[in-house]
Amino acid sequence: MSEDVLTAAGTVAAIRRYAESVARLRELLTELDTAVGDGDHGTNLDRGMRAAVEALDGTEPDTPGAVLNVVGRRLVSTVGGASGALYGTAFLRAAASAGTAPALDAGALAAALRQAADGIAARGKCAVGDKTMYDVWAAAVDAVEAAVGRGESLPAALSAAALAAEETVDRIAPYQARRGRASYLAERSIGHRDPGSVSSQALFECLAAQVS
Ligand code: ADP
Ligand code: MG
Repeated sequence: MSEDVLTAAGTVAAIRRYAESVARLRELLTELDTAVGDGDHGTNLDRGMRAAVEALDGTEPDTPGAVLNVVGRRLVSTVGGASGALYGTAFLRAAASAGTAPALDAGALAAALRQAADGIAARGKCAVGDKTMYDVWAAAVDAVEAAVGRGESLPAALSAAALAAEETVDRIAPYQARRGRASYLAERSIGHRDPGSVSSQALFECLAAQVS
């Protein structure tokens, strides 16, 4: 059944869904990060999301903001590398934006996702076109905001975000990376999919699946 708000329980379910997705993608993410980085993105994120789910099992927070806060803190403390700080910041910023609201409607979720994306840009000192996870976040959040502006439902807005995320992963693969370890490869980064963009695409896919 499709949902027009994201509740605390819905947020927990989305996080579990993402943890399962990351576990499935672990080898692929490792492969992608071996080509352009140090090969740890899959294991990093899998460890972090397992820890996040474990923390949620023990606490059962009663607002989406509180759920996102637990996840952000766990990611910061358990994920090494750039992506721990970046995803951690994203979840913590989204948590702050969500505040103590019992549920997030499409507008509130769009605002939280925008804060998360802005947090990644600030933390990573990155911009659109640098070929990082931020390209996916920026495109996905733009799509959510546009859909909300057109008065579309939460499921419609999040499926637009998932589609934009998917398109962005392939659109930026031919770019040269300008941030993170992949940038050390200069033109040899061209043609490879960015690991963080793939893990971020999976997150938007899980969000969309959760409310559809
Ligand atoms: P590390 O690069 O420290 O080994 P991970 O392998 O876990 O960290 O994550 C790599 C991903 O993090 C990249 O694919 C990219 O999407 C993202 N990333 C790395 N540095 C930055 C940055 N400065 N700004 C935005 N995203 C970045
Ligand atoms: Mg790495």
